[in-house]
Amino acid sequence: MKSGESLIHDFALIHNGTEILETGTWSSIKNHFSGDVTDLGDVTIVPGLINAHVHLELSHLEGKTVQGQGFLSWITSLLKNPTYKIETDAINKALSGMLESGTVFCADISTCNCSKMSELMNESGIGFYSFCEAIGQKIPKSGASFFPDKVYPRGKTAGAGHAPHSTCGELLIAVKKADSAAKRPFSIHLAENEEEDEIVGQGTGPFAEMLRKAGILSDCGSKGLSPVEYIHSLGILDESTLAIHCVKVSESDIKILADTGTNVCLCPRSNEFIGEGRAPWEKIINSGINTCLGTDSIASNHDLNMWNELEYLLKEIHIKLTSQQALSMITKNGAKSLMIEDLYGSLEVGKRPVFATVPSHLKNLLFQ
Ligand SMILES: [Zn+2]
Repeated sequence: MKSGESLIHDFALIHNGTEILETGTWSSIKNHFSGDVTDLGDVTIVPGLINAHVHLELSHLEGKTVQGQGFLSWITSLLKNPTYKIETDAINKALSGMLESGTVFCADISTCNCSKMSELMNESGIGFYSFCEAIGQKIPKSGASFFPDKVYPRGKTAGAGHAPHSTCGELLIAVKKADSAAKRPFSIHLAENEEEDEIVGQGTGPFAEMLRKAGILSDCGSKGLSPVEYIHSLGILDESTLAIHCVKVSESDIKILADTGTNVCLCPRSNEFIGEGRAPWEKIINSGINTCLGTDSIASNHDLNMWNELEYLLKEIHIKLTSQQALSMITKNGAKSLMIEDLYGSLEVGKRPVFATVPSHLKNLLFQ
């Protein structure tokens, strides 16, 4: 996945278990190498996959939500369940499935179980960012902390904001500042659906009423701004911010995201599952925005398989992507958006020796 490089035949890498020591073709390396050799056979490997947006704490809600009826119906069906009462078996099953399908790193969002989720991800062997999500209208005291400052062998913690309509501006700004001070990425759901558009712009609508009753409606309405314009006005869009979804974005919103260097994580199958419409994928990708993919939770997707996410996007998209552009969305671009490029995203010396095998049914789609 080096820039401009295409497929390398007879590829080999030497590693010590934690770090890549050398890469090249097997015919050039074998003469000066002695040690155990694993021949993977006739396969195509890519850097280990990165799922830039998932909520593993919702793993017990598979099949418990309605599909294709829009956001309000979906969230209503979600909230009929014990949403944040996590089930360890379901989470471990989700983690095993992710690892088996080639995902080596995930950005997990947890609203109530951040420390527990960190422990489970750490035990599974997956690399991770464990985002502790801030939500609500409570203005934080100065110096408040938003995530445990704990570093794991393959993971770190960081703060995330839930969304513009549910989390007050002061809280979003404070979490973003804490992440920046700790040199961590910041993640936020942004411009996901028309309900959010209406709340941010006018402060009205049935979803606004639902949030008001729950006491978490943000006072960001009646300014006539789009969600992207509103979040930009708070000063939290930059190269270390990852904006999730971006379904309802105009051309001027896309320009703001591009000009500020904000990273975008598309979750195409989740948007389709809920019935929220489709992000302007082509415009976002063509704008030069660093764009990656995430599955979102199993409560709004059929599985957490990144190959399936990429396959869905490629079959629906109406622009021609090179194989490198397409694969970057589930590898290199995710690593950049999560500030983990030093270890993930490409098979280069000094990085983690983790890779995924391209499923045979996708070879034509990716390399034709
Ligand atoms: Zn999400």
